[in-house]
Amino acid sequence: MVPVDRDLGWLSQGAWTSFKSCPKLLRTLRSRAHRVINLSRSTTAIVAGLSPQAQRHKAMRHMLLQRHPQIRQFAGPDYRTAFAVPVLLAIHWGIAWSVSQTNVLAVFLVALLLGQVVIHSAAALVHETAHRLIFSKRLPKLLFDLHLELILGSFGRQLTYQHEHISSHHPHIGDYERDYEHEDICGFMARRKYRSDYPGRQRFVTMMILILHALPLGFLLADRVVPIFYRSAVGQAAKDADRHIGATKPGRSERLMFISVSLLANAILFLLFGFWGWLYHNWSLSLFLGKCGISNLGQSLSEHDGDNLVNPTKSTYGWINRILFNTGYHNEHHTCPNVPWHRLPALKRIAPDLFNSENTKSYVQLWWEHVRYDFGPTRRNPLMSRDNAHRCPSES
Ligand SMILES: [Zn+2]
Repeated sequence: MVPVDRDLGWLSQGAWTSFKSCPKLLRTLRSRAHRVINLSRSTTAIVAGLSPQAQRHKAMRHMLLQRHPQIRQFAGPDYRTAFAVPVLLAIHWGIAWSVSQTNVLAVFLVALLLGQVVIHSAAALVHETAHRLIFSKRLPKLLFDLHLELILGSFGRQLTYQHEHISSHHPHIGDYERDYEHEDICGFMARRKYRSDYPGRQRFVTMMILILHALPLGFLLADRVVPIFYRSAVGQAAKDADRHIGATKPGRSERLMFISVSLLANAILFLLFGFWGWLYHNWSLSLFLGKCGISNLGQSLSEHDGDNLVNPTKSTYGWINRILFNTGYHNEHHTCPNVPWHRLPALKRIAPDLFNSENTKSYVQLWWEHVRYDFGPTRRNPLMSRDNAHRCPSES
């Protein structure tokens, strides 16, 4: 039987074992969890190690275990999920082969409608392995992650995600200072001011940003250019220099390993499927990571209101979970983060009264509403209604 809860309850059992066997790392982790950076009203609960919303999930977990103790047996990794990797790799490279004799328009449409969904499915496995729910021991997990990298070709970005998801998002959910999923407040304020001052022009800017994100690797360029544009347009900082999420980071040698596998994946794609096949992959990844990541962005918008302390997390139920490894069962996941994906629906069946916070909109609908609102707020947080002049100083 695997205990579901511990002092650091958001860690999976495997991660807990690893951290426990490394006292220095555990000390660092604990000190980070208790450190108060730029104390604000929303961060006062950090002294307890977890944000108020994370504490709410912890309380839900206690309640669940008291009422249904058999749920303890659901926790723990399941290696069988690893068989999904060769299947996804075959689908992804099969599509790359099918577009290898086509043209730029066909490659774009296939990447937009199909490729980014395949990448999203692989990214759901990155989420699963981040919680050590496929392999808990270091070496098998590393080998699994490297195979995933062969599909993703993310140049180590999946490692950053894993670290931020586990050490920033889960324990500090809803806390702007520490939860990296909250948008930079200065970027948001600058965009809101520009939209309020120039509503007509903002519509044009939204269209240009969308076009930029639709280009291969355009999101990288947009990430640099857009904050500069808003900063000069409204005359105030569009990046919050005071924010430090304090997430753990991957080591250099680990990153080099993943970058090498990404280079190998790119070489294989180019050699086997030519330029169009290679472009299909990189375009799919680029669309997935940017504003044209319809399912990815839609899912992100569906999960957390940002400021809801009673129901911090919503779940999306339906067919989409079949291709996204049940990541729609997000309320169940945040409540029991060491239960693997295929047992999450059982949690909902056992305790429907506890898991009753549901998102009923489709990911496509949420994405479209976000775009129509000129990229409205992705998460709410109390800073949005305050004067942030000290954080986002005027440049005049
Ligand atoms: Zn998670």
